[in-house]
Amino acid sequence: RGDPRDALGAGWKAGVHPNDRAKARAAWNAAAATSSVFDAEYRVRRPAGDVRWVHARATGVIDLAGTVTGYVGTLEDTTQRRVAEEQFRTAFESAPIGMALIDRNGAFLQTNAALSDMMGYNSNELQSMQASTLVHPDDLRVIEGHRAGPLGGTNNDRRLVRADGTELWASVRLAPLVGQAGQAAFTLAQILDITERRRTEAELFHLANHDPLTGLLNRRRFEAALEAHVANGRRYGPDGGLLFVDIDHFKSVNDAHGHHTGDDVIAAVANAMRTRLRNTDIIARVGGDEFAVLLPSGDADVVHRVADMLVSILRDDIANVAGKDLGLTASIGLALCDDASLTADEMLIKADLAMYDAKARGRDQWAETPFHDRSTPSQELMAELPRA
Ligand code: GH3
Ligand code: MG
Repeated sequence: RGDPRDALGAGWKAGVHPNDRAKARAAWNAAAATSSVFDAEYRVRRPAGDVRWVHARATGVIDLAGTVTGYVGTLEDTTQRRVAEEQFRTAFESAPIGMALIDRNGAFLQTNAALSDMMGYNSNELQSMQASTLVHPDDLRVIEGHRAGPLGGTNNDRRLVRADGTELWASVRLAPLVGQAGQAAFTLAQILDITERRRTEAELFHLANHDPLTGLLNRRRFEAALEAHVANGRRYGPDGGLLFVDIDHFKSVNDAHGHHTGDDVIAAVANAMRTRLRNTDIIARVGGDEFAVLLPSGDADVVHRVADMLVSILRDDIANVAGKDLGLTASIGLALCDDASLTADEMLIKADLAMYDAKARGRDQWAETPFHDRSTPSQELMAELPRA
């Protein structure tokens, strides 16, 4: 942007940056030789000494005899676009997350180093692949139901498969890059490895719902399952039963053998219950030496038989933990799900009271207290309950 007169008469080549001069001259010669339009992008040095990018287009002016008498053309300053492109390229290449440019057919056009690191393919390998081949087949199928985009879907989490066959969880963001004609010409994909985050989330979720010593459900989760079962019973008719298991004289195990052995016993009881009960039965550790079992289906006979089995498991299967003869037994309180009007809380109280009844009757057995007995507990039970 100087005085236009300064440019007059000056050879255009003089302004071209020395590094681009050969390239510009070659383009010019090629255009002149074929009488076609000169079209080139090169750097120029302005009188002040600064460098700009320009896009030059020129065409020959031909007289009636067919002789080129001059050239007319345009020079567009493309420095800003060039800088923006360069910045984009740098950001793309050095981004700490996987980046890819995907064409309209779903093939990788450009990929960055982070994506290669993440997937175990080098950039040449990636750039000869369909983006969807990185997606775990199961996730691709699910997403395909909703019309798969490049990389198998829309913005969400999915599993990808590395070159060595291992899986990772990825959060994928897809942004269509609109072309000059207004159609989405490319898709820019940002791919973040969230495997670690998913693992931590799963661990936290597990921790919130399970007892760390036994891996069984905790009280909170058990109560939620019971609530759901009771609600189900109100709609479709009550079924199954609830069992409360409390180890007898467990304090004496701790006292005689130490807290560690006590822990081992609790874990052994949990294992025995898990092994002997059905997969559909819900087992929880609801207190120190207290377990609860929800049998989702079965009549009184079935529930009584499971109670019998649990009493004998405790008496016979846990007899020997860590080489110590413990002589373990348990008392079990039982509440049948046979009254749809009972709430989950009332069921828990019923089973708890029945368990105290079993203790009062001499332990190593199960008991079942009809709910109306709640207000008139047995004499034995009254003697057993802690006094205020
Ligand atoms: P009862 O026959 O009346 O059930 O007597 P008990 O000794 O089993 O007493 P209770 O069930 O009331 O108390 C359970 C004891 O279990 C209390 C505590 O010392 C012990 N305990 C609670 N949690 C743990 C635990 O995580 N590990 C170990 N080792 N002991 C525990
Ligand atoms: Mg106990």
